[in-house]
Amino acid sequence: MNTRRNFLQKLTGTLIALPLLSKDGFANMEKHIRDSFYDGPVLRVAIMGLGSYGSRVAEAIQSCTKVKLVGVISGTPAKITAWQTKYNIPGKNCYNYENFDAIKDNPDIDAVYIITPNALHKDQAIRVAKAGKHVICEKPMALNAKEGKAMIDTCKKANVKLLVGYRMHFEPKTLEVIRMRKEGEMGKVLFFQGLCGFRIGDPTQWRLNKALAGGGSMMDIGIYAVNGSRYMIGEEPVWVTAQETKTDAEKFKEGVDETIQFQLGFPSGAVASCLSTYMMNGLDRFYLNAEKGFAEMQPSTGYGPIKGKTNKGELMQEHKTHQTVQMDEMAAIILEGKQPVVPIDGEEGLRDLKIIDAIYAAVKSGKKIDLLH
Ligand code: NDP
Repeated sequence: MNTRRNFLQKLTGTLIALPLLSKDGFANMEKHIRDSFYDGPVLRVAIMGLGSYGSRVAEAIQSCTKVKLVGVISGTPAKITAWQTKYNIPGKNCYNYENFDAIKDNPDIDAVYIITPNALHKDQAIRVAKAGKHVICEKPMALNAKEGKAMIDTCKKANVKLLVGYRMHFEPKTLEVIRMRKEGEMGKVLFFQGLCGFRIGDPTQWRLNKALAGGGSMMDIGIYAVNGSRYMIGEEPVWVTAQETKTDAEKFKEGVDETIQFQLGFPSGAVASCLSTYMMNGLDRFYLNAEKGFAEMQPSTGYGPIKGKTNKGELMQEHKTHQTVQMDEMAAIILEGKQPVVPIDGEEGLRDLKIIDAIYAAVKSGKKIDLLH
């Protein structure tokens, strides 16, 4: 943990530059002033896996108040060098996949954000926890519920936090719909529809490799509909049915799902009907129907801005970079014990994995799967 105590010096520097600022400059200055007055704890994070999403998260962290990117773990030396230069990362905070257990002796890193292919999450998370560092892990948290449970148990034993990268749990329009539903402004929820998909390109990428991805579209994008159905309806499902369609068996090999439709039943009687696919472009829509109202969001889980309306009108909450908000909120959860509106912990990740396990089982057996027993 670290504090920022030199705010007066920083502020003086900012005020001198005031007359020279453009519009973007003003936005930066606003952040700079906020940071200058921020004297609380800062979460020092190392990113593991410097790929496409890792790069997005690193950029977003630059606008955080409570998070600082201080380290990297990567299998690609050239990326490490580039990130060191770009983000001013000292050599002592750089690791590879062979030597990162030594992070336990590094007092300058508080947490590791795992942003590698899905199949690597479990073992990497366990190693990070055993090194005594908090774990932030991308979705899907692991390949199945058994792996997820092992991660939770290890983190508990090591007394470190385990958080999953569910950025939508902090998205303002999503939170407004959840608030309306919780406060009864829509009445009893009856139905949720979650449509999540995109047309996947390069057939050689890890997302289409069962060993690295653990499945296909369901692990990658369908999980948003699984997770969304739970936070939009506000209950845990009790049964699952699912059907798979495959139009390209060459690209989507055995165990890699191209399109899955699934249905979830909830204790109140509400039902969800969802689609997960790697074959349709720009499919990103949530619809919630309730006795006295509705919510419609499209796009609903992309990087935003999220757009939508409810029975009360258009959702007008301000767009903020999801990963910046997520990281600042995660720092508050880890450092200050803040409770998020929608859980973000390992148990939350595990709930989704149990449902995904059941979806795959339902596809295989063609039967309705009971989630209670
Ligand atoms: P990328 O392929 O772009 O990056 C993954 C990185 O992991 C690689 O660049 C590499 O980094 C590292 N890596 C380690 N071992 C392997 C391996 N065997 N094969 C490939 N890469 C390896 O993937 P993404 O960044 O898109 O996805 C990473 C994770 O983030 C996934 O779990 C995904 O589901 C999640 N994600 C979450 C999103 C969200 O919105 N929450 C959005 C996108 C992805 P290096 O060279 O540094 O070792």
